[in-house]
Amino acid sequence: MKQEDHKFRLGQVLVVCAPSGTGKSTLISMLREEFPDFGFSVSYTTRAPRGEEQNGREYNFISREVFVAMRSRGDFCEWAEVHGNFYGTATKPVEKMLDSGRDVLFDIDVQGAKQLKKTFYKGTFVFLLPPSREELVRRLEGRGTDSADSIERRLNNAIGELSQAKWFDYWVVNDFLDEAYQELKAVYLAGKCKPPLRPGILGNIQKTWEDDG
Ligand code: 5GP
Repeated sequence: MKQEDHKFRLGQVLVVCAPSGTGKSTLISMLREEFPDFGFSVSYTTRAPRGEEQNGREYNFISREVFVAMRSRGDFCEWAEVHGNFYGTATKPVEKMLDSGRDVLFDIDVQGAKQLKKTFYKGTFVFLLPPSREELVRRLEGRGTDSADSIERRLNNAIGELSQAKWFDYWVVNDFLDEAYQELKAVYLAGKCKPPLRPGILGNIQKTWEDDG
């Protein structure tokens, strides 16, 4: 019997989704700073690196051809097309982190989250909301990185994503950053205490403890 079969704790899955402009990246950075042991799923993407982004850190940057080949090989546990680019999560590194007892944080879009919910139904799925439509527009405009077209597209996407918010386990409204962070953290810690992803684990533990005793 493997060492980890003796333990009650296996890694938990935390999936965070939000319409663009909600403050997801900031909240995720805060969480990773406070919990440096978090396993972070580094996605594969066909989009070009932006700014300071480094291959293998923010994303694994690959061509469309490579992406399609990986997808046909079944390497991804979820994938989606977002704003014209492909994004996907490779299964193996995630399984490895979970098996070693590390919690894994996913920063993915709603389509991907829906696919992951089937595999990791015991995971914690959080949807971040802006306080209002007006505030979302204000934040998107305030970033100064998006053209009027792009803002329009992101707003339309946001409406589509909001229609999916209902099946998430938790909603966190990002009105005031510190409050939203406290809520996200509380949700993560509550998720950590859910029974483990593998339903057989309790039986295994009882058996091993009986055998050992
Ligand atoms: P960006 O290109 O701005 O980094 O990300 C665009 C969107 O793609 C974000 O909502 C981000 O969460 C999502 N995304 C990043 N990686 C993945 C992934 O592996 N799978 C899916 N489904 N979405 C992803």
